[in-house]
Amino acid sequence: MNLEHTLKDILESELPGCRFMEPMSRHTSFRIGGPAEVFISPSGEEELAAVLRVLRTYHVPWRILGNGSNLLVSDSGCEGAVIAMEGICHMEACGRFLRVAGGQLLSRAAHLALKHSLTGMEFAAGIPGSAGGALVMNAGAYGFEMKDILREARVMTPEGEVLVLDADRLDLGYRTSCIPSKGYIVLEAVFGLEPGDRAAIEARMKELSDRRREKQPLEYPSAGSTFKRPQGYFAGKLIEDAGLRGYQVGGAQVSEKHCGFVINSGSATASDVMALCGHVRKKVMETSGVELEMEVKRWGRF
Ligand SMILES: Cc1cc2nc3c(=O)[nH]c(=O)nc-3n(C[C@H](O)[C@H](O)[C@H](O)COP(=O)(O)OP(=O)(O)OC[C@H]3O[C@@H](n4cnc5c(N)ncnc54)[C@H](O)[C@@H]3O)c2cc1C
Repeated sequence: MNLEHTLKDILESELPGCRFMEPMSRHTSFRIGGPAEVFISPSGEEELAAVLRVLRTYHVPWRILGNGSNLLVSDSGCEGAVIAMEGICHMEACGRFLRVAGGQLLSRAAHLALKHSLTGMEFAAGIPGSAGGALVMNAGAYGFEMKDILREARVMTPEGEVLVLDADRLDLGYRTSCIPSKGYIVLEAVFGLEPGDRAAIEARMKELSDRRREKQPLEYPSAGSTFKRPQGYFAGKLIEDAGLRGYQVGGAQVSEKHCGFVINSGSATASDVMALCGHVRKKVMETSGVELEMEVKRWGRF
């Protein structure tokens, strides 16, 4: 990975505020990851379109960063540009709909719903992602997922065109959508909710948050559930049955509290996490005959 000096100078002048060799460990919930060659955080949609134009002109590949809560970035980092969506974060309630920008946190959106006594988003309050990342993953919890509340999305194509798409155009399935394969950038999600009782909504949010704190190793950096749930099984139970509770490679560990989580116990590298995941997949295949698929997205070379 090495940006030519001239290209670096050009990007520096054409993308004010961009940073070079930004450690991705600062931007992922795993607290792991080498540098992004270029890191840029546009403050609005027009600036985002301008950034895409510059990157297209100079053939710089790019990726979109939400809140980094479902990402494992290689120790050697990732080539090209990382475009962080954190600056595109407006949100508003209109009647029973919430308009939430791609870079806004789901937890904040859920609290806006609470403020307006709207029910349907309680399940999302504890998912530590952005609205954009949640659509990409069709994030879900406690029997609900984004698909249940998403009405439409506004996206930007890699060419900078803005499209408004009905929810069913995003092919939302279990922890998947067509957003990455189409190269869409989620600018805004419109969620349809129902009028509810504010105290009941707040109580449900608290109950779910207590459940998370009790069951999940929130005291350690992680990317949540490391593996997708295989049909008919729970990944955590399969991993426990393979005798891997607490199993460790370097600083990466199968959580003692919840075997479905790989945690960074302090000094884990991305290689530790991948070696651990490889061992877990092998052992689970041997003991249960079930193939585990990673839910966590990987950036860079492994
Ligand atoms: C403690 C913990 C608990 C968790 N609990 C849950 C849970 O209950 N349910 C669940 O489903 N997940 C859970 N997760 C995983 C994670 O929070 C979700 O997958 C979340 O939706 C990821 O959103 P993000 O903004 O962090 O995305 P990122 O990790 O930043 O990115 C994930 C993918 O989305 C893409 N992306 C992000 N934003 C955009 C955008 N605006 N436009 C286009 N592409 C974009 C990225 O390029 C990447 O491919 C948990 C994670 C942690 C750490």
